[in-house]
Amino acid sequence: MTYTIEKITTLIGARRFGHRDANIAFLLTDSRSLCFPEETLFFALKSERNDGHYYIADLYRRGVRNFVVEQVPLSYEVDYPEANFLKVIGTRKALQRLAERHRDEYNIPIVGITGSNGKTVVKEWLYQLISPDKVVVRSPRSYNSQIGVPLSVWLLQEDTQVGLFEAGISRPGEMLALQEIIQPTIGVLTNLGNAHQENFATVEEKCREKLRLFHEAGVIVYCMDDELAARCVSEAAFKGELLAWSCKNANAPMYVQTHTEGLTTEIDYTFKGQLQGRYAIPFIDSASVEDSIVAATTALQLGITPDALAERMAKLEPVAMRLEVKEGQHGCTLINDSYNSDIKSLDIALDFMNRRPDHKGRRRTLILSDIYQSGQSAASLYGEVSKLAVERGVEKFIGIGTELSSHAELIKIGEKFFFKTVERFLQSEVFDSLRDEVILIKGARRFGFDRITENLVRKVHETVLEVNLNAVVDNLNHYRDMMKPGTKLVCMIKADAYGAGSVEIAKTLQDHQVDYLAVAVADEGVTLRKNGITSNIMIMNPEMSAFKTMFDYDLEPEVYSFRLLDALVKAAEKEGITDYPVHIKLDTGMHRLGFDPEHDMDELIQRLKHQNAIIPRSVFSHFVGSDDDGFDAFSKQQFELFDKGSRQLQQAFRHKILRHIDNSAGIEHFPERQLDMCRLGLGLYGIDPRNNQTIHTISTLKTTILQLRHVPAGDSIGYSRRTILDKDSLIAAIPIGYADGLNRRLGNRKGYCLVNGKRAQYVGNICMDVCMIDVTGIDCKEGDMVEIFGPELPVTVLSDWLETIPYEVMTGISNRVRRVYYQD
Ligand SMILES: *Cc1c(COP(=O)(O)O)cnc(C)c1O
Repeated sequence: MTYTIEKITTLIGARRFGHRDANIAFLLTDSRSLCFPEETLFFALKSERNDGHYYIADLYRRGVRNFVVEQVPLSYEVDYPEANFLKVIGTRKALQRLAERHRDEYNIPIVGITGSNGKTVVKEWLYQLISPDKVVVRSPRSYNSQIGVPLSVWLLQEDTQVGLFEAGISRPGEMLALQEIIQPTIGVLTNLGNAHQENFATVEEKCREKLRLFHEAGVIVYCMDDELAARCVSEAAFKGELLAWSCKNANAPMYVQTHTEGLTTEIDYTFKGQLQGRYAIPFIDSASVEDSIVAATTALQLGITPDALAERMAKLEPVAMRLEVKEGQHGCTLINDSYNSDIKSLDIALDFMNRRPDHKGRRRTLILSDIYQSGQSAASLYGEVSKLAVERGVEKFIGIGTELSSHAELIKIGEKFFFKTVERFLQSEVFDSLRDEVILIKGARRFGFDRITENLVRKVHETVLEVNLNAVVDNLNHYRDMMKPGTKLVCMIKADAYGAGSVEIAKTLQDHQVDYLAVAVADEGVTLRKNGITSNIMIMNPEMSAFKTMFDYDLEPEVYSFRLLDALVKAAEKEGITDYPVHIKLDTGMHRLGFDPEHDMDELIQRLKHQNAIIPRSVFSHFVGSDDDGFDAFSKQQFELFDKGSRQLQQAFRHKILRHIDNSAGIEHFPERQLDMCRLGLGLYGIDPRNNQTIHTISTLKTTILQLRHVPAGDSIGYSRRTILDKDSLIAAIPIGYADGLNRRLGNRKGYCLVNGKRAQYVGNICMDVCMIDVTGIDCKEGDMVEIFGPELPVTVLSDWLETIPYEVMTGISNRVRRVYYQD
């Protein structure tokens, strides 16, 4: 479905500059995701941190001709002769307006889903339940924000029969806009949870805000066993029919009884007092059971028959929301996307691959299975796949499945291979010859693509550190929200990003446009450059032997002493370099490194002025105790020293020298000292240094049970017989030891890990590569997952046991522990 540019101008009430005809099929808000320039309409959105107007020139060069803007470029007729600019007061509002008008065209059931947990699962399961009979459009992944919702609703097409959209909010007042765009005919409330409510005073306030989505809905699905939900729904006095489900109240419109046996749960239901049925799902956890009931209630309301419901529920596929990045064999990087295979999620995954900077010369390869349930003919579907893959830079295509194999000619990529099954691919030469490639692996679950990943992943060790890249971004935004607009940010990724792995973290941060990355030594900077990082990089401990390397790789050193300064100037002069940016460090009380702001400034200024090889780009100092109110007086003294010294430096130069002193704790505790720039470290990795609590957990250290054994009372465990069992026990051996960074002092019941959510103490001395844990009374088997630290067991608990700080535990995880990255 396309709109003419005239039509869009009217729909959003814009003033048009430019006269070119155009048909618009795609809306774009992030210039990096551009795919089909001719048919794209770009919305120049403004946020606190960025402004879409900056990207207009670049997009025009890449072929985009249609822009919605708040300011029309000055000499647009000269600079952009072929463009149309639609001028509006607010671009975000205009995007929402357009989606709203588009939505108005559809007189079909539209399901609006909100809640705290399970939105995406309910949406995907509903899709699995109804898409065999109906043409369904749904939000891609979890596109549920003020921007994501309009982009999702825009996907409605002439032949769409049902729409499924998620709505998520983070602030009071946001739901009204989403309600107007989605205009759900059926409102669905999923689990409310009781998670920490950023920006909301109470869970109740948040619940009421969410329910605004349902004001015009004809039917509202919710759980009446949840007291809060029931109370808020009844207070909201909806006009629509209340379709409550309950396990307790036999008079509920959807009354269910569940029982679990082995690995399945059976659910008996009575729908609106008449329709009785039963279905079973291949899950037993309570979240899945609840989400299935919500999906079943909604599907029945949409007219699914009990037989179809039972048949499809039995085949329900788990919803993997992760895009995982793994190191593969032979120099390959694997991007594993097991999210449902459909064209929109393929597009998002391709975009993700395309945006990640990587070594030059590494090819981009796509391994794709047949796509099911698209409602499109194979010819148009795979034609579209081919077009997308080409646009997103795929150079090698490996298709798996009978359908793809028989439509091979539709894939217009030079290097292409087709296999009927995963086995044939694994046995082929094509598989054996994968080298130095970035490989996106995307397949419908029934194809079992995990076998491909397993065979490609570098096998090292069963212990992995999983890093959630979305949580890194959430933490970044958590701190950005506390920063004054316009303040620049340095992200500290020294010590291999506090153990999380600097390359992937740097890619994520670069994608989110932080101003500087900082590492400890030059080699860390070189690694980043070799992996495609183009951001500014600061080197905190520049070695005298590495100046040339720094010049070659555009790495900006910190300068903390006259000796370093002189050597650096000399080295730069030798290379004929001028105005090389450096960062001047002042010692205001840490007494580690830095110039003395009271005694060194005059000489420092003298020496800087008498050369032109280097130039101070910034000047900074570091608090010794911004995390502790007890040091506030000392921090004040530090700040005053810094303020004076840094001003003196600035006054000696005409160019702007950025001043910075706040670290993570400082950003929060001393907002008035944020100056030009802040340096974010620990907070980025999810630890709030002010209270030692977690913000968003980014890393999980996990391993698996290797062996289980019953050991009688009186026997000892491990070297030197340090733990003697006082009762008959079940003992598990797990493949992690002090050489992996598991501190030996946790042994002999000093600490515990989690096995299936239950605490299991370390028993005996921790060995180099293995240790033993007490799993007596815990339901577990060999191969089960063990969490050493992570969301359920914060790393700060371990650092407290060890009487140290979380920094030490995080940076102590050794290199042989594989890092696995994922995105929700
Ligand atoms: C490590 C470091 C930081 C970051 O400190 P956090 O407490 O982790 O936020 C900031 N500045 C300097 C100079 C550092 O070395």
